Amino acid sequence: MWATASVHDSRRKFRCATIRRVSAVSLSASSPVASPGRTPPQIPKFRRALLAWFAARKRDLPWRRTKDPYRIWLSEIMLQQTRVAAVVPYYESFLLRFPDMSSLARAREEAVLSHWAGLGYYSRARNLLRAAREIDARHGGRFPSKHEDALRLPGIGRYTAAAVLSIAYEKPLAVLDGNVARVLARLGAVRGDLRAPALWRQLEGTAQELLARNSPGDWNQAMMELGATICLPKSPKCAECPVAKCCQARALGVADLLPESRKKSAPLQITLAAAVLLDPRGRTLLVRRTGRDGALFSRMWQFPAIEAPADASLLLARHLKEIFAMKITAKEMIRLKTARHTVTFRAIQLQPFLIRVERLPRIADARTPLLGRFGKLPVSSATRKIAGTATAYSLKPRQDSTKARPL
Ligand code: SF4
Repeated sequence: MWATASVHDSRRKFRCATIRRVSAVSLSASSPVASPGRTPPQIPKFRRALLAWFAARKRDLPWRRTKDPYRIWLSEIMLQQTRVAAVVPYYESFLLRFPDMSSLARAREEAVLSHWAGLGYYSRARNLLRAAREIDARHGGRFPSKHEDALRLPGIGRYTAAAVLSIAYEKPLAVLDGNVARVLARLGAVRGDLRAPALWRQLEGTAQELLARNSPGDWNQAMMELGATICLPKSPKCAECPVAKCCQARALGVADLLPESRKKSAPLQITLAAAVLLDPRGRTLLVRRTGRDGALFSRMWQFPAIEAPADASLLLARHLKEIFAMKITAKEMIRLKTARHTVTFRAIQLQPFLIRVERLPRIADARTPLLGRFGKLPVSSATRKIAGTATAYSLKPRQDSTKARPL
């Protein structure tokens, strides 16, 4: 079924047996159709149908209103592992502060992290800054247009390089991410673990073969858009799909079953005990990369914390004694509501303790903001969650009267 007459004229029914064959052959063995000049005649029709659908139905997103490589690169980095709706406000406010490559290249890391705070996966922001400085120094402040130069930049892999170069410079490089792989797997009714290296390479070959070489930027975005809005992981909307006629999974009635689910390893469970030290003026202590906890927060400002596989309060008290010479007893530690936080393969259970102190420890490279009022300090959403819980508790009428003191 074609969605609308304007985009998908029902008279233009074309058979997609060849498309299916391209996918199937490309995915099973080296394909003769991959040779230049041997594109089967149905493929141009397939491309036209998808591109027409994209032109008519694409979402109006801020990074689609520009050809500026800097802005396109920024959007691609922000969109990694992150939903479009979450990215839009960050993208816009980041560009207000860092409107071009040179403003980013000159920025301090703390300022960049501060504008990234809440978006997660902070190594992206640090790599973005490193790459901007490299682009400024070596490429005259313009994102390089050569594939090999782009791939040498920090934080740029095959997907990101292909996305930026095709969209900004119309380079004929096909993208392959999870969305596109799912679409290809369904079009060709491909079984197996798509992330298995051999199969992934074959999918890359198929993606490259199908690429509309005269409009690679739109083509890549169209494939991603199809995966993001129509060919959804669960319950694909086949009735609205512009290339449904070409879909082998649909023809076989197995669209819902593909791609086959991967055997995922269970997320690593981590308990993190955090100390919310609170002085009489309402100030708290934030540190960076203290003890063994830094890796989880990627050099953002955070409450002193420690991984605590067993008795969290005991370990946290020992940790505070070691790093701040504070003597804390179990009575002085008010256990707050546990929060959950997930970072890639780690499921983190945050166990915060509110500890009222007469004065905060004086240590180098620490910050002492008012609890929950962190201003421009780069803090993660996990830290904000803990601060919210602690603030709510601290506003309740006091039931505790004990205060911890430095030794
Ligand atoms: Fe995906 Fe369905 Fe379209 Fe096939 S017909 S590509 S399964 S949305």
